[in-house]
Amino acid sequence: MRKEIIVVGGGASGLAAALAAKKEGRDVLLIEREDRLGGILNQCIHNGFGLQVFKEEYTGPEYADKYIQEFLQSDIPYYLDTTVTNVDKLDDGFEITFSSTKTGMKKIQADALIMSTGCYERTRGSIIMPGDRPYGVITAGSAQRYLNIDGYMVGKNVFILGSGDIGLIMARRMHLEGANVLGVAELMPYSNGLTRNIVQCLNDFDIPLFLSHTVTQVNANKNQRLESIIIQQVDKSFKPIEGTEKKFEVDTLLLSIGLIPDITLLDNLEVEKDNRTKSVKINQSYQTSVPGIFICGNSLQVHDLVDNVSLESERAGKCASKYVLSKKIERKTVNIIAGNNLLFVTPHYIDFASEAKNVVFQFRSKTKIAKSMLKISQKDNEIKSKRINYVVPAEMESISIPLEEFNDLDDVVLDLEVL
Ligand SMILES: Cc1cc2nc3c(=O)[nH]c(=O)nc-3n(C[C@H](O)[C@H](O)[C@H](O)COP(=O)(O)OP(=O)(O)OC[C@H]3O[C@@H](n4cnc5c(N)ncnc54)[C@H](O)[C@@H]3O)c2cc1C
Repeated sequence: MRKEIIVVGGGASGLAAALAAKKEGRDVLLIEREDRLGGILNQCIHNGFGLQVFKEEYTGPEYADKYIQEFLQSDIPYYLDTTVTNVDKLDDGFEITFSSTKTGMKKIQADALIMSTGCYERTRGSIIMPGDRPYGVITAGSAQRYLNIDGYMVGKNVFILGSGDIGLIMARRMHLEGANVLGVAELMPYSNGLTRNIVQCLNDFDIPLFLSHTVTQVNANKNQRLESIIIQQVDKSFKPIEGTEKKFEVDTLLLSIGLIPDITLLDNLEVEKDNRTKSVKINQSYQTSVPGIFICGNSLQVHDLVDNVSLESERAGKCASKYVLSKKIERKTVNIIAGNNLLFVTPHYIDFASEAKNVVFQFRSKTKIAKSMLKISQKDNEIKSKRINYVVPAEMESISIPLEEFNDLDDVVLDLEVL
């Protein structure tokens, strides 16, 4: 069997990308490993989704349902409970191996592939946390799934390490379910979550946020369940400061210590990587360095707002469709560089042969800046400048500029200047 485009992942990203490709007239197949469409949105039962796309505030499942209904009406074929396990490059496309309990292992070919595989959580193993290894220490996303999908309460006395959005949302969720949430510790001197989540999830419920703090000791009881933790303030080089120890008697420690784009499927292919996003490099068409492989959503860059995921993936779906028709792989590129005060920027290069005639830059700042000026330039030529008030690393910013405004010789540099 052969398809023009295969979309891997049926979350917000995969749904939007598949719908866009179908609207362009392409023959699409979507493959999702869970037993339902919607991805991570299914477990995000809080509101705060859709303000940009629908101009209304929905819960995660409500937002997903809008896309799922449209997807079902579009008659795009899809497999659930099916995991893509391998992608091989052919001379004229790709061979995708997938596996499910119904069909066993099968292969299918495609002209193009859209990776919408989302991201995964960093676990305890990825940080230094001295002490015992009891149960009761789990990632905030897993706890959210246990609680919101499976209906299990994971603990009674809870502490949270990391102030990313999942941690903040789970602090409120556990509190509302009757747990005693004793606090949130954050290594950085600022929170990594959206401002609205700090207000609505912590401040509104008097849950303390300990900035520049981390967990320095984990203690188990005789049944190997978590019994207590010690947190300590850290100095500028993140070393614990003696004498700042605080002990909390808790049976549950939720970890919200970062999300990593899931690009494991691309391991066998020589796709150029980006150390900053922990994903791969793309041009303005969301095409990776391997022609025909497109990527979007949280597998490209971890997003804070689902609306941006949908819009980005729609653009990726359109670009993949155009690629299938033209198979144009001429790549006259200039690099895009994250300059002063920027953590990262996507895309990574501009392809002047690409069908995408706008470059949508998405970026995060390194620190909180009250008043700043974004400058986009090529050598001494300033292409665009824009004043941005209040940027924080937790909130992704974006700006779109027509391709024709760039020359095809010089690197494009984005700087965020403090005013
Ligand atoms: C806890 C939490 C709270 C959030 N709160 C908000 C909020 O309040 N407002 C807001 O706008 N946004 C919020 N977001 C952000 C937003 O929900 C996400 O950015 C968005 O839903 C991600 O969509 P995605 O499709 O990229 O990834 P996912 O939803 O993770 O979808 C990826 C899909 O790919 C599938 N998959 C992966 N690998 C394979 C494979 N090999 N084979 C087949 N299928 C595969 C997975 O099963 C999954 O269904 C939140 C996110 C989280 C995690």
